[in-house]
Amino acid sequence: LKKEENGRIAMMTYDLKDITAEKRSELLLRPIIDSTEIIGRVTPIMKDVRQRGDAALIDLTAKFDRVQLECPTLKAPFDEKLMQLDPQTKAAIDQAYDNIFKFHDAQMDRDTLTVETMPGVVCTRFARPIERVGLYVPGGTAVLPSTTLMLGIPAKVAGCSEIVIATPPRPDGSVVPEVLYVAHKVGASHVLLAGGAQAVAAMAYGTQTVPKVDKICGPGNQYVTAAKMVAQNDTSCLVSIDMPAGPSEVLVIADKTSNPAYTASDLLSQAEHGVDSQVVLVAVDLTDAELAAIEDQIHIQASRLPRVDIVRQSIPKSYTLKVKTLDEAVSFSNDYAPEHLILHNDKPEELLPKIMHAGSVFVGQYSPESCGDYASGTNHTLPTYGYSRMYSGVNTLTFVKHITSQQLTADGLNRLGDTVMRLAEIEGLEAHRNAVAIRVADLRK
Ligand code: NAD
Repeated sequence: LKKEENGRIAMMTYDLKDITAEKRSELLLRPIIDSTEIIGRVTPIMKDVRQRGDAALIDLTAKFDRVQLECPTLKAPFDEKLMQLDPQTKAAIDQAYDNIFKFHDAQMDRDTLTVETMPGVVCTRFARPIERVGLYVPGGTAVLPSTTLMLGIPAKVAGCSEIVIATPPRPDGSVVPEVLYVAHKVGASHVLLAGGAQAVAAMAYGTQTVPKVDKICGPGNQYVTAAKMVAQNDTSCLVSIDMPAGPSEVLVIADKTSNPAYTASDLLSQAEHGVDSQVVLVAVDLTDAELAAIEDQIHIQASRLPRVDIVRQSIPKSYTLKVKTLDEAVSFSNDYAPEHLILHNDKPEELLPKIMHAGSVFVGQYSPESCGDYASGTNHTLPTYGYSRMYSGVNTLTFVKHITSQQLTADGLNRLGDTVMRLAEIEGLEAHRNAVAIRVADLRK
């Protein structure tokens, strides 16, 4: 059933009891992203940066961003004049910084895990920072201090020694002051004034002024995403990435107790991201009148938005699924594995134990996604496209790897030796068996 009378901004509506299993499966799918063509386009860009370094960065920035730079990088300490902010903006960034820092600092794995698996056999695990990281902050015209906070703070907390931030320059060739202010706060060593595949290549391979990094994180358009995938698969640059990325998405579960205006506002805050945003409302046992109240609010609030043109395209591609019970709602949400999940039902916190797949959950009517997007403390760089089944969002451990160690005493080796020798023998690895055998022979003399 499609409701779009008289230019009304409305979502499609389905009822779980009326649709087939095939249709339910179809509703769980995201639009197919074919990256082959984009990879074909980014590969020569990356090769150019790899071969010509800064000169290629300058040419590509002139071509794609229409900005002629003399030097593509700013090196710390950054000029204070380039990060002048009005007091309210600075206070808002500072408060967001403090909350995000507090939550991410608490995630840091500072203790060595030590387990004596059997007498005389001690295994440990400890964390070390990934030394050099590259953080991509999208958007030449957009102002995105929030993404800079969300990537920079966990990298700082983890103890990364080199933080490089890449962001497309503004039309006048400068960096967004809010982004530079956050770059300064998180201790970035370089800001690279470039976007797209060329920025990713510069960080993956290094240039005359851009340090090569070990891991590249952050959201971006299809060129950025494709370039991260290409870099990750190129063993010559030995770089890893945070996660695959697709368009942003939200799933909202609402029941009779939900406030229709709040529910609509949360759906729209996602829908305004882009024409490809995915917005899903799962309505639990709502009457037609109750659902209409939400739909009216969607239309009324959307019509007032400056980005109404984007919403006009994203909302009709979105849908409402009517279900009878909360269990049906949770089951659908878990199958969908949303990036953002908002719970507008009665006693929402009681639903959390049943949530199996989601990037981040927003619990109750006073927890809009906007708070997590900016300032509550959680990270907003989250797995999309159903990848929340197996990926976490960016967090402090994104910038850390773990090393294990073991130490055996003579007694420990004597106890474990026969097991290891037997397993090595089964696998036909005689040198492995022998490395234990020569020691055990001495111990058993
Ligand atoms: P972007 O920084 O990702 O990309 C801009 C760059 O793309 C330009 O610098 C240019 O070099 C390159 N480019 C443009 N056209 C090109 C072409 N034809 N060939 C090669 N390269 C080209 O900024 P954007 O395009 O505004 O996209 C931002 C993306 O980031 C959106 O998809 C948005 O949804 C996402 N985003 C996500 C978050 C988050 O945290 N999840 C936050 C903000 C934005």
